[in-house]
Amino acid sequence: MKKRIEPSSGTSPTAVRQLAAENQLLQQRLQELITQARDNEQILQRHHQINLKLIGAGSLPELLHCIFHDLKQSAALDAITLLAVEAEFDLRRAMADLKIDRHAWPDLLLLPNMNSGDIARDRAQRPELSPFSAAKHRLMFPANRWQPASVAIVPLRRQERLLGYLNFGSEDANRFNSSVATDFIEEQASIIAICLENVINNERLKHIGLTDPLTGVYNRRFIETRLQEEIRRAQRQSYALSCMYLDIDHFKQINDRFGHQDGDDVLREVATRIKAELRLSDSLGRFGGEEFVVLLVDASSAGARNVAERIRSGIANRIFKLDSGRTCQVTASIGVATLTTDNASQPATNIAQQLIGQADRALYQAKNSGRNRVVCSG
Ligand code: GH3
Ligand code: MG
Ligand code: MG
Repeated sequence: MKKRIEPSSGTSPTAVRQLAAENQLLQQRLQELITQARDNEQILQRHHQINLKLIGAGSLPELLHCIFHDLKQSAALDAITLLAVEAEFDLRRAMADLKIDRHAWPDLLLLPNMNSGDIARDRAQRPELSPFSAAKHRLMFPANRWQPASVAIVPLRRQERLLGYLNFGSEDANRFNSSVATDFIEEQASIIAICLENVINNERLKHIGLTDPLTGVYNRRFIETRLQEEIRRAQRQSYALSCMYLDIDHFKQINDRFGHQDGDDVLREVATRIKAELRLSDSLGRFGGEEFVVLLVDASSAGARNVAERIRSGIANRIFKLDSGRTCQVTASIGVATLTTDNASQPATNIAQQLIGQADRALYQAKNSGRNRVVCSG
């Protein structure tokens, strides 16, 4: 809608020209403001969308992807890193528990043995928007990586704790400077801090519900669920899947001789020695008492036998040194079963039961034929 100022009678031509010029300027300015308002609305909408996505992230990898990919794209940033302050925020352990490969997230920087005091002493509580300085920002943008021209260093806080810094980098030297408003960034940082803490707590709780408190390996419930998932995947992608049932030999005697405490120690050490022979994709669970089950992904019968043999000798060939100072010799028997295509049409629950049943029967044979040995089913 264009409004024109009509020259009234008696106005001089110069005044009319002046008015017209002024009018044009005003219109230009108005147009600029409208464009700016539209841009702001779009920014606000994008910001809102990203915040909803951050809040909706159901797992740590999902949240990290949202930060390092979606947020980076939506805010048109050239780099984002997240520097976690480890002592306050035990991300490394959480990622190990969750079996998340840290190296898959190069923009997540973890500093060991550093607490918020060390790092925050000379840093303001508010975001710092400034030109990039190699000396000042080397923790946030390491020297071996691409270096931005301007940066926003945003503290991530939860209550009194500093969890780390969210760091935005731009190749535009004017993008981040002290005159830029930081309210959007600050709001986003508090959402990200809450989401990070929340997602990690949730994953931890999930993890606790699925692990055996004595040995730290998975519990029976997890292994049974996992086995069904792996069977479905193995059927879809047609790779081998093997299952190993391990039982410590004469464990009752170990308990009787050394006491329950030492017995518990033996259980923990057996779990450690089994784990030492497995790949990241395999799953180890304590099925109860002195029995462990291992799922070996992409392992044929021959491959599984090799792993089982390594586990058996790893237990039998090295003396166990217990916390009490005592030592003892331990052996274990192992039954191995491998998924075949015979029963592929059956539901995964049935196949899982059959596979564990086969491994258990093979274990029984191993016990009956003298213990400290591996028997493969079929
Ligand atoms: P075999 O060679 O035939 O397997 O003999 P075993 O003595 O190992 O088998 P048995 O099933 O007779 O004994 C298992 C023992 O494991 C009995 C039980 O007290 C002990 N046990 C079960 N759970 C735990 C535990 O959490 N801690 C300890 N220390 N002992 C446990
Ligand atoms: Mg037993
Ligand atoms: Mg036993």
